Amino acid sequence: MAQTPKNIAIIGSGLVGSLLAIYLRKKGHSVTVFDRRPDIRTIKFSGRSINLAMSNRGWRSLEQVGLEAKIKEIAIPLDKRAMHVNDKPVYFQKYGKEGEAIWSISRGILNKRMIDLAEEEGTEFRFNEKVWDIDLPTARLYTGESEKGEWKEYQYDLVFGCDGAFSRVRHKMQRQSRFDYSQDFIDVGYKELTIPANEDGTHKLDKNSFHIWPRGQFMLIAMPNVDGSFTCTLFLPFEGKVSFESIATEDDARAFFKEYFPNVQKDIENLTKDFFNNPTSAMVTMKCYPWTYWNKVALVGDSAHAIVPFYGQGMNAGFEDIYRLDKLMESHGDDWDTIFSTYQKERKPNADAIAELSYRNFVEMSSKTADPKFLLQKKIEKHFAAKHPEKWVPVYSRVTFSERPYAEALAIGDQQEKIMKEVMLMPLIEEKWDSQEVEDKILELLGEE
Ligand code: FAD
Repeated sequence: MAQTPKNIAIIGSGLVGSLLAIYLRKKGHSVTVFDRRPDIRTIKFSGRSINLAMSNRGWRSLEQVGLEAKIKEIAIPLDKRAMHVNDKPVYFQKYGKEGEAIWSISRGILNKRMIDLAEEEGTEFRFNEKVWDIDLPTARLYTGESEKGEWKEYQYDLVFGCDGAFSRVRHKMQRQSRFDYSQDFIDVGYKELTIPANEDGTHKLDKNSFHIWPRGQFMLIAMPNVDGSFTCTLFLPFEGKVSFESIATEDDARAFFKEYFPNVQKDIENLTKDFFNNPTSAMVTMKCYPWTYWNKVALVGDSAHAIVPFYGQGMNAGFEDIYRLDKLMESHGDDWDTIFSTYQKERKPNADAIAELSYRNFVEMSSKTADPKFLLQKKIEKHFAAKHPEKWVPVYSRVTFSERPYAEALAIGDQQEKIMKEVMLMPLIEEKWDSQEVEDKILELLGEE
């Protein structure tokens, strides 16, 4: 359904704000994007390359506006995990079925490309312009150099808050009565580190794998970049015996990498340098509701639902918000009340579900990967899924390689967990984990669900 062109402001030129601008321009709206930061395209590359994983939901949202192929050119497919467990050779775990992969992509390159494309579509960008306040009922914005200084005033028909986890737009919505809000920081922080390319520009580790060094209370992961380097993320508790606090000197850092990550010995000097040069960041789950104000203001992406990154879904979920919003615009035309109210009702349970799944993955990765019972359970599930792919799709695949709602993945995952709890109580399960009896038991329990 066609829409009457509106004058729309988007706050935030991050991944979500810039993709939303492209969608809205394609619908014929006039779009201005404000960002408090300078234009990312003018910032000299700092040498650090931060990457993220794009999966099906993200690709579908890009495909809808014809960008999938262009962006795939700058992404690397990862079809498996490479597990670096101490005292064992590296082993590989396929992510899904043949042809299924997540894609490693540089956040900076992706954001620059999307701002370029949004501009080509006719979006106006106003960088270095921070939004300090918004009058929700009238969609009026106030920007300026400082909170106490002089402000400029802008009037729009609609405003989208794509201003991230610490959103100013949401902050204003929080002051209303009956606005729910919660934020939970986890006690683990992260730091980005780099493994540079070989001298000939090739990758030092397998290029088509997502590398994981699980170490109980902490872990290191690495994803490839197109220039041959890897961006690593070290997840480590802020405090405790082995923690960001306990690694205070370069010698501490060298000893830490030497002890826990023996197969990256050659890069220890680089990792140590990065450890002290790069910031330590915190991770938060943020939930709120409602996400919209009348037919005037809507939150999209991290401003509505920030999640911990252990499922690699934050951006994917934000892109899916836009994809769904677009479908609602097609169905409801100029009825923005219905578009906004349906959008928040539909997306909220899904955002809560991926927040929960991401948090559980954090617990699973940090404390369960060393538990033999947990590993046996995973082995049984994998064995059964391989034999009955139509009866048992693992939650990871439902989240990553499907476009079905996150809430459905969570609900089915809970059913599967219930079944596996019973299976794990079977006598001598350690010995007969791959027997017909276990298979029959799972089939029987699936029949009861
Ligand atoms: P942001 O990227 O935070 O952008 C917000 C923008 O708003 C910024 O440009 C900011 O300058 C601007 N802004 C803020 N306040 C104002 C204001 N008052 N006025 C004007 N402008 C303002 N997701 C995945 O899908 N896959 C992954 O593998 C993945 N890995 C991750 C790893 C880590 C360590 C972390 C922390 C996150 C990861 N994510 C991942 C999540 C992903 O980064 C976020 O979900 C995504 O960047 C959110 O995009 P956004 O545009 O909503 O917000």
